[in-house]
Amino acid sequence: MTDRNDGAPPRNTLGPTPLKDAAFREAVGAVDWEVDARYAWDTGVAVGEYLRGLRRGVILARECRRCRRVLVPPRMFCEQCFRPTDRWVQVEDTGIVNTFSICHIRWDMEPLEEPELPAVIEIDGASRGIGFMHKLGEVAPEDVSIGLAVEAVWAPDEERRGSILDIRYFRPREPSLRRT
Ligand SMILES: [Zn+2]
Repeated sequence: MTDRNDGAPPRNTLGPTPLKDAAFREAVGAVDWEVDARYAWDTGVAVGEYLRGLRRGVILARECRRCRRVLVPPRMFCEQCFRPTDRWVQVEDTGIVNTFSICHIRWDMEPLEEPELPAVIEIDGASRGIGFMHKLGEVAPEDVSIGLAVEAVWAPDEERRGSILDIRYFRPREPSLRRT
């Protein structure tokens, strides 16, 4: 076991994120002690490499040679074949809408002025049915449909941090369906 209290960040983490005392107090109310809270998420090998890819502006996947599936987000183990996956592959930053929702309220039940459009995006180059959740932008809710071809809109290079939010959203590939 690795000693997590030795001060060194674990190998695959992007570094601890300080939780400021002021933010903590605002969230939980008055406390009369120093919080000095820190947390770090150990991404693991597969997601660590995936996040480093996003920082470079590419989407990485893992391929299993036995079932020939390309998995994104990547995982080091194929749950169908019960064996390790074999190699890294770069997939496209385009895909199709597998399913979507039209959200009129936020997570805390506050109404939204503009609805948000969370969607599962099947990524081109990955196996069919495989992809990840993100959100749609530059599109009116009535123009979204299952199977809509979309493309990633990336944050500028200098703003990318190794996060799924390095992709700001997915927009229709067809310019006539885009709204500003
Ligand atoms: Zn497999």
